[in-house]
Amino acid sequence: MKTETLNLPKITDSVNGNNTTMKALVYHAPGKKAWEEKPKPSLKETTDAIVKIFKTTICGTDLHIMKGDVPAVTDGRIIGHEGVGVIEEAGTSVSNFKKGDHVLISCITSCGKCEYCKKGMYSHCTDGGWILGNLIDGTQAEYVRIPHADNSLYPIPAGADEEALVMLSDILPTGFECGVLNGRVQPGDTIAIIGAGPVGLAALLTSQFYTPAEIIVIDMDDNRLAVAKTFGATHTINSSKENAIEKVMSLTNKKGVDTAIEAVGVKETFELCESIIAPGGHIANIGVHGKSVTLHMETLWSQNITITTRLVDTVTTPMLYKTVQSHKLDPQKLITHRFKLNDIIKAYDTFGNAAKEKALKVILTNE
Ligand code: ZN
Ligand code: ZN
Repeated sequence: MKTETLNLPKITDSVNGNNTTMKALVYHAPGKKAWEEKPKPSLKETTDAIVKIFKTTICGTDLHIMKGDVPAVTDGRIIGHEGVGVIEEAGTSVSNFKKGDHVLISCITSCGKCEYCKKGMYSHCTDGGWILGNLIDGTQAEYVRIPHADNSLYPIPAGADEEALVMLSDILPTGFECGVLNGRVQPGDTIAIIGAGPVGLAALLTSQFYTPAEIIVIDMDDNRLAVAKTFGATHTINSSKENAIEKVMSLTNKKGVDTAIEAVGVKETFELCESIIAPGGHIANIGVHGKSVTLHMETLWSQNITITTRLVDTVTTPMLYKTVQSHKLDPQKLITHRFKLNDIIKAYDTFGNAAKEKALKVILTNE
């Protein structure tokens, strides 16, 4: 029998009349993405919550995903791991949140119960970690399912500065935990931040909790370096125009820096950190490295340095949230562009041409 094509109305939920589909940014293959119709997420576990997205953003990591650098992300995945929104539905085991509550979404999902969560190392949660927009569907959509909602969401008051709070999903805790805390920045220190993208700038902002004496920011983009100056950098170096090693050494009496924060993720920038670190110093890696780097043990073996790596745990989010609420920290400064969520493809073009567009963080609003 031949089935007739009927002109049916959009499928709707028979119980509450809500649409059962939504729009989302979907990864298909390297270089192939689409803003398309997907089923609206539903609760899978009693510890889940469904969040209606208000504001989200695009991360440098999402650009890596789009290039095919993150093979765990497969065809059909909804991208995105940052955002704020409102609880649409909470599972029966969720006790901290109910329908209508405003929430900040952490880029890291944590069960709160496993061995790593108990240590505060949420990034390695055995039933979580960085899964949003990676192993499960993410936040660049009208709705998202958040597992372990009690631990992976933070309450925010209605009427809060939601755009500023989006910066707390990932970049502020990443810059702070992986760069500033691991780099053990102390009052009076001389530090260098290599890479003035959003995460490097987040490290620049949060390093100032500890009043380092000198903050040297190194990048190849003059616009970003100019922004770094307004954010508190005491010196900037454009490494495409000047010899960064010589310049750092001349700024530090040939001593080098106490902390070098790597916020790029390539061989050249990591090795730059090795060349400018002072005896007793700390190299704190933040960058996502796709290739190996050379560890110059022939010079570093005797220098009493430490090298740290870390995936953000987001354990400092509640503390950072307080500093944002009290305006001690103003992450709003990182936002350069605003789009409707519907125009996300345009937002990707802008963010993907960050140098030309002078883009730092873009905010997408679900209207
Ligand atoms: Zn990110
Ligand atoms: Zn866990």
